[in-house]
Amino acid sequence: MGAIADAVQACQNRIVLACAEAGRPRDGVRLLAVSKTFPAAAVREAHAAGLTAFGESYLQEARDKQDALSDLALEWHFIGPLQGNKTRLVAERFAWVHALEREKIAWRLSEQRPVSLPPLNVCVQINVSAEPGKHGLPLERGLELARLVASLPGLSLRGFMTIPEASLQFAHTRFARLRDLLERARAEGLPVDTLSMGMSADLEVAILEGATLVRIGSAIFGARPLPNN
Ligand SMILES: *Cc1c(COP(=O)(O)O)cnc(C)c1O
Repeated sequence: MGAIADAVQACQNRIVLACAEAGRPRDGVRLLAVSKTFPAAAVREAHAAGLTAFGESYLQEARDKQDALSDLALEWHFIGPLQGNKTRLVAERFAWVHALEREKIAWRLSEQRPVSLPPLNVCVQINVSAEPGKHGLPLERGLELARLVASLPGLSLRGFMTIPEASLQFAHTRFARLRDLLERARAEGLPVDTLSMGMSADLEVAILEGATLVRIGSAIFGARPLPNN
């Protein structure tokens, strides 16, 4: 097996163990492979190792990769911050958006989603630690944006996403806050089923706290070159 196939297997094992530890079924957690900064050939290897969902943050790079891999049935997730002038490409080329944080972007994505495609799956990004200068909305405003997304015809509200600060010390409480928000949204009748949280370093904590989708980059593809982080 190649290095990527080995790494995919190791990740799958971590997820299986974490689910067992959490008393959750394995099929309640999806693995999204974050392929940003890595070449199409690496995605091809990960696909051969059984993965079908891939996350990208940079639009031009993603577009080139999608074109190079159009022979494969892949599900593309846009996980980066989204600017107004980039929405059309995302609406046309992706199945999911994970980092929605502005109303105007929601309107545009809905308008620009081709009617030939199913609605774009959307998670609202939350800043669970309320750190200034970080991406994501405070909880209340996130819930408001979720209500708007649920009302737009070109979008399908799926849930919430967060990137907590690197320290593992607070990860439990941060992730638990996102889970509470999902419960609140559900209680008011919003059709949410997704908690997009957990990355290479903290997927176990995220799964313990209810993650339904983990976004794994370096643990599959190796260290990314700086400065793309
Ligand atoms: C890059 C990135 C990841 C993957 O991070 P790793 O630590 O390499 O697993 C996950 N989510 C988002 C939003 C990212 O930008």
